[in-house]
Amino acid sequence: MRGGSPKRPEPTSDGWSPRTEASVWLGLGLLAVGVVWFTVRAVEIDRSLGPASRQLASAAPPEASPPPPPPAPDAGAERHLALAWTVGAPGEPAGPLASVRRSAEELLARRLPRGLRRGAVIRAVAEPAAAPKEPRVLALDVRAPGQPRARFYRFGGSGTRRLVDEDGREPVPNPWQAPLATLRRTSPFNPKRMHPVLHRVRPHEGTDYGAPTGTPVYAALEGTVSWVGPHGGHGNWVAIKHDNGIETGYAHLSRFAAGLKRGDHVATHQVIGYVGSTGRSTGPHLHFSASRNGVYFDAETLLATRLRELPAEERDAFRAEKGELDRELDDIGDPLPAASRPGVGDEPASPADDPVSQPRAAASGARRQRR
Ligand SMILES: [Zn+2]
Repeated sequence: MRGGSPKRPEPTSDGWSPRTEASVWLGLGLLAVGVVWFTVRAVEIDRSLGPASRQLASAAPPEASPPPPPPAPDAGAERHLALAWTVGAPGEPAGPLASVRRSAEELLARRLPRGLRRGAVIRAVAEPAAAPKEPRVLALDVRAPGQPRARFYRFGGSGTRRLVDEDGREPVPNPWQAPLATLRRTSPFNPKRMHPVLHRVRPHEGTDYGAPTGTPVYAALEGTVSWVGPHGGHGNWVAIKHDNGIETGYAHLSRFAAGLKRGDHVATHQVIGYVGSTGRSTGPHLHFSASRNGVYFDAETLLATRLRELPAEERDAFRAEKGELDRELDDIGDPLPAASRPGVGDEPASPADDPVSQPRAAASGARRQRR
């Protein structure tokens, strides 16, 4: 009779309990998995060994071993995008080239002292990127009518907007900002000027910018208001003392910003008043001045773009990189007429096989190989 207690484990023919039997099967299963894993690993390791290592391991005669495979294609090789176009010309390139064109024009608009004008011819070399990333502009060549050719290079640090010129200089961020939205200089700083109203030599201690009456005037830098009110020939005048010891002045104002008073702290680009023609003035304009310890100097120098040289230890690396990018820029031909623009960016019909000849094989608008 099978035991009176149903809960008791049932013995098997060889005397093992079901629990023990399960453990044995589990062990065997694990062993089998282990064997399979080891086999797979061994094959993988064997594959990962180069032919030379295998040859040593097998101690086979050299003639019997397969010839070494040809060198693997350079995985690090990247194709640069290269293109040329005329600013404002009709026709938009497709795909990533449109993005190169857009970012190149943005970079140059910021970097060129007089901005980017229609008719300027731009050549660009860019590093492609897989979507949704956009290609990164590496080098730019710009020729604008009536201006010298200029080249700029991305150098030092990825993801930055650092763009240095041919001498490896980059603009230093300038805390000073223009006192008017648009600067139209009508008379420069001049210590020996013949005064237009007084008709005698009288130094022009500031820079005049023509602007319609009522145009907002901004603080060129944050500081403390040191004068608000009529001030002789300055007419309605605002002066601001800055932390660096410089005092700026804003003359001939038609009116002041509401509530502005001496001792107020003003932020950079805060409206302090409005253009007028009060005081000794022949027409609405802003007379913008700067002084240090009571001595006037050319206020325009505050607004000028200042350039910083690369650190000495980076110059060799820059020259090497520049040389390479210059060759790529030199290889780009003239912009294609708008009608044939769809061809820009097409693959070359027959890419050169000889890596040495490839740099010279690049044509206008063609992508090219770089190592
Ligand atoms: Zn003036």
